[in-house]
Amino acid sequence: MFKLPPTQALTGHGSFKTYTFKIGKTRDASCVYCGEEDSPRHTLFSCERWAGIRRECEVGIGDVITANNMVDYMLQSETKWKEIERAMTRIMTTKEQDERRHEGTRNN
Ligand SMILES: [Zn+2]
Repeated sequence: MFKLPPTQALTGHGSFKTYTFKIGKTRDASCVYCGEEDSPRHTLFSCERWAGIRRECEVGIGDVITANNMVDYMLQSETKWKEIERAMTRIMTTKEQDERRHEGTRNN
């Protein structure tokens, strides 16, 4: 089953500035890597920062992963489920590490 980071990704809560902006934690909703709106869809399917991780996953799946086909692929086989879950988890954990590092420097 899903662990925490992919669940956050699907609900849009957690480490997305569209969410942290809404709850007043950040001053804007733009992606720290590219300046576009930092929504779950942006992070997982279009932000260039994560293109490498997505590409590895897509080689395994044999297709470009989108918000529309992700769940279908995950339900096709356990291998694909794990492949996609691993990519999403890597993106989310790396992003959260980046954010923690950023917060650390801001508070100094
Ligand atoms: Zn971005």
